[in-house]
Amino acid sequence: MKKLEQLYEGKAKKVFSTDDPDVVIVDYKDDATAFNGEKKGTIVGKGVVNNRMTNHVFKLIEAEGVPTHLIEELSDRETAVKKVQIVPLEVIVRNVAAGSFSKRMGVEEGRELLCPILEFSYKDDALGDPFINDDYALALGFATQEEIDTIKNYTKKINEILKAYFLQADMKLIDFKIEFGKDSSGKIILADEVSPDTCRLWDVHTNEKLDKDRFRRDLGNVEEAYNEVFKRLGLA
Ligand code: UDP
Repeated sequence: MKKLEQLYEGKAKKVFSTDDPDVVIVDYKDDATAFNGEKKGTIVGKGVVNNRMTNHVFKLIEAEGVPTHLIEELSDRETAVKKVQIVPLEVIVRNVAAGSFSKRMGVEEGRELLCPILEFSYKDDALGDPFINDDYALALGFATQEEIDTIKNYTKKINEILKAYFLQADMKLIDFKIEFGKDSSGKIILADEVSPDTCRLWDVHTNEKLDKDRFRRDLGNVEEAYNEVFKRLGLA
């Protein structure tokens, strides 16, 4: 499988066409951004960690019956995936209060939530990914009711899989963001990535942050945190 032309360059990945119209190749970069692109930097080796960790996690998720876009890992940074039309929703799950939720709700970071929260943002950088609900998504045609139901069911299952997976590596899954796409037949499948860029992961004993908050908040040891997650998951 060969890269033909670059179709798109995002904040953390480039996407290339291939000779198969239903397959694209994603190439993970070390570039890091935060606060809607206001803060920029490099996290050396991040592309490798995020590519390999995403693929490993997607295989686990697939084995539990949730379809994903993964086809084949091609190299440390490159993966062949099914071409999808991305559903313009950032699907966020929260198990413990943190980040924008803590700010919005006035709840201290680290407070256990009584049940997981599933929320949607409209994926639009110019608008700063505004918080929306099901009715917004339906009324604006982002997804049908059936698609929303599928996305919610898959997301709840993914949360259970990921919580257990990270816990056996001594990490607590605080919250995460995923995205879904529609394949050429219109089927909803998990797309994008699951990595320390998109998950908050805290050490289960010390609550040390092992994710992109180290970059967002200038906590130092950013590369070390990504490598630590990689090592704990047995991927290094
Ligand atoms: N997240 C993400 N991309 C975004 C926004 C959020 O991957 O554009 C992830 C983030 O890493 C965290 C979760 O979604 O694990 C919840 O993020 P939150 O809404 O608290 O926003 P933040 O505080 O990151 O701005």
